[in-house]
Amino acid sequence: MYETSKQLFEKAKHYIPGGVNSPVRAFRSVGGDPLFIAWAQGSKVYDVDGNAFIDYVGSWGPMILGHRHPTVIEALQHALERGTSFGAPTEAEVEFARMLVEAVPSLEMVRLANSGTEATMSAIRLARGYTERTEIIKFSGCYHGHADDLLVKAGSGATTLGIPDSKGVPDDTARHTITLPFNDLDAVGKTVDANGKAIAAIIVEPIPGNMGVVIPRIEFLAGIRELCDHYGIVLIFDEVMSGFRVAWGGAQSLFGVIPDLTCLGKIIGGGLPIGAFGGKREIMENLAPSGPVYQAGTLSGNPLATTAGLATLKLLAQPGTYERLEKLGNDLTREVDQRARQAGQAICSNRVGSMFSIFFTNERVIDYKTALRSDTVKFSRYFHAMLKRGVYLAPSQFEAGFISSAHSEEDVTKTVEAVEEAFKEV
Ligand SMILES: *Cc1c(COP(=O)(O)O)cnc(C)c1O
Repeated sequence: MYETSKQLFEKAKHYIPGGVNSPVRAFRSVGGDPLFIAWAQGSKVYDVDGNAFIDYVGSWGPMILGHRHPTVIEALQHALERGTSFGAPTEAEVEFARMLVEAVPSLEMVRLANSGTEATMSAIRLARGYTERTEIIKFSGCYHGHADDLLVKAGSGATTLGIPDSKGVPDDTARHTITLPFNDLDAVGKTVDANGKAIAAIIVEPIPGNMGVVIPRIEFLAGIRELCDHYGIVLIFDEVMSGFRVAWGGAQSLFGVIPDLTCLGKIIGGGLPIGAFGGKREIMENLAPSGPVYQAGTLSGNPLATTAGLATLKLLAQPGTYERLEKLGNDLTREVDQRARQAGQAICSNRVGSMFSIFFTNERVIDYKTALRSDTVKFSRYFHAMLKRGVYLAPSQFEAGFISSAHSEEDVTKTVEAVEEAFKEV
């Protein structure tokens, strides 16, 4: 009757490309087959094979309260009774927008969408429409969803022209995206000094989490803010991951560097599909129907996503939430670092609040180039050693781990015990 993860994956590969609906779920970079999850509760996920895992994937970021938080579930049940989507304005979306605007320093207005990809794609279009310029700057190793303009890597050698990072992205599109190294203010300075007036936007993850976690230099973020002011470039912070993860209001409230536009997603949907982008009124008023930049969505701001989002934000706003997440994060990394020293494992631990990465390298990881020097073969062995011991990490060296408020001190202790054993094995 019940099928195992292995059986389900075989069947899935027949009907779904690669057997998954988003590539990194497939375990390709660590080897082996993905687990099929049957259900989850709090800090744990349970697979169809009957195993329990302490979960540090958290659905790739959204589940900051853990799985099935009773308050969120109850709010959703009430919303369900009134209908799942009307394609017309609702009270909840106004309340939700107000809460986002009050929480995130850069937001004066906000538009809801259905994914982080939609948010970044629309923010880029808006920045181009507003500035009437075409070129954009992004940073190597930062991920901004899968829109054509943003699936671009650095061109080689002297040329700064971007080249497609995926088949199907036209060269013509990619060449408008300039890719520079993260944390390298000089590179940004040189590029904007040469082409500043052609550049519509700089988009950046203020705390990158998609090459593993990388810590920004504060002078880097403050420096690009100044350059954007000087050249009339729209600064976009992609806080789809860091928003409400590292602090109430996101990385911008942590660092005090305020972008013109901010993209949100993940946590603000409380586990349901969502995206949002917002910022200065002067820029946002360019969106249809107030202005000439088109953007839309059949299910945007739907009552289920806004209800789960509102319930989640209200819980996050309670005093002590981020202090607790910080303490758990600090305990975990401190203990892991100590076990690494004892075991003679060279690792670089990067953490901001409840997002963390362990890179298997003896160098400091400050950008994509240094991240790539990690021993990914060792990471794969580590991943499987942890999985075997009941700890579910993201199946790639270049992803963040996430702690939720449902994680207990006991979860952290058990994880550290697993790490200690895993370090001996890898
Ligand atoms: C996850 C993520 C996205 C894409 O969001 P989706 O909802 O997966 O489309 C964009 N930017 C960042 C920084 C992300 O972490």
